[in-house]
Amino acid sequence: MAARIYLDWNATAPLREEARVAATGAFDLCGNPSSVHGEGRAARALVEEARGALAALVGAEPRNVFFTSGGTEANVMALSPHLTSAAEVRPRDRLLVSAIEHPSVLAGGRFPHQAVETVPVTVDGVLDLAALRRQLSALAQQDRRPLVSLMLANNETGVIQPVAEAAALAHAAGALMHVDAVQALGRISFDINALDADLVTVSGHKIGAPKGVGALIKRGQALHFADALIKGGGQERGARGGTENVAGIAGFGAAAAAVRTALAREGARMASLRTRLEAGLKARMPAAIVFGVAAARLPNTTLFAVPGIRAETAVIALDLDGIPVSSGAACSSGQVQPYQVLAAMGVAPALAQCAIRVSLGPTTTESEVDCFLDAWITLAEPLLKGRQGVAA
Ligand code: PLP
Repeated sequence: MAARIYLDWNATAPLREEARVAATGAFDLCGNPSSVHGEGRAARALVEEARGALAALVGAEPRNVFFTSGGTEANVMALSPHLTSAAEVRPRDRLLVSAIEHPSVLAGGRFPHQAVETVPVTVDGVLDLAALRRQLSALAQQDRRPLVSLMLANNETGVIQPVAEAAALAHAAGALMHVDAVQALGRISFDINALDADLVTVSGHKIGAPKGVGALIKRGQALHFADALIKGGGQERGARGGTENVAGIAGFGAAAAAVRTALAREGARMASLRTRLEAGLKARMPAAIVFGVAAARLPNTTLFAVPGIRAETAVIALDLDGIPVSSGAACSSGQVQPYQVLAAMGVAPALAQCAIRVSLGPTTTESEVDCFLDAWITLAEPLLKGRQGVAA
């Protein structure tokens, strides 16, 4: 049987070897990181080593990294009215989110539904900064205290968002800025200070760590989680109760360290493979439309559609051919807002239903990209001919 060609890295990445070694090594430690004895201290050392590696990858201080069960939990932890500081102890009373956020952000975290406002995006899938400015200034006039949440890169289109510009607007209006960097981590380099973000969400499994581990990262010491999402035994300096997932965290740290040394090389490689993919697609099937093509995008992501070829048919056929890809946000499985991102970009539902996401990773090869193109043409050409026959 031919090897499968995995092209769904935005859904999840295969385990990195470094993460596998670190996680399996950690399984052999029995200590609880909160225990003071030798076994506990050994487990604690792994957690703190991972905290340091992740902090280094995003330019944060290790003490500002809080491990969670993943990106979803970190987002819900961040989206709380009760983010306080010495300068502002009153609760946040408005949440502004872009129209293309992950469902865990769109749901508003712990803000009441009526306190959540959506900020539109342009036809290229980029946050509309002028709209954000207008919405912030209207809220300032009402003496509101907003929190803004904007992703660094979109999971479906890969479009990179103007986070630093949005943060400047937010801070000028007295708002806090949260950034969901789940899809950006390991694909583009970024620094929490350069982003001017108060809080950043990351997730391990997108960079080859085990699934079920993530982190919420603060830029500085000033911000306080006054109402912990998970209250418990005081772990993660009181911000997140529960005995730490030591093996997952060790794997996350190892993956973060590996990514830090390889990012520039892997990013350039993925970008050249993505160019090969999109050029090959357009050359062989000129009707193909690539979404967000005019904007800066992650180097590994292509979201495209060929009018008339429905994604659900194509994804099943490609899977049978041994090539897993996605027809939308895989982590929002099934029918949960399947076309929300493209709808926000003004794409008609009939075209959105044809959108296929191909996402590459550091181990993707040229020949895998070429195999995908061959498989796509083999699948799509008869379908298009059939449609022409019907129309004739
Ligand atoms: N944010 C974005 C942009 C994502 O793409 C995802 C998952 O795909 C998440 C958050 C959720 O992360 P996790 O799967 O770790 O809960």
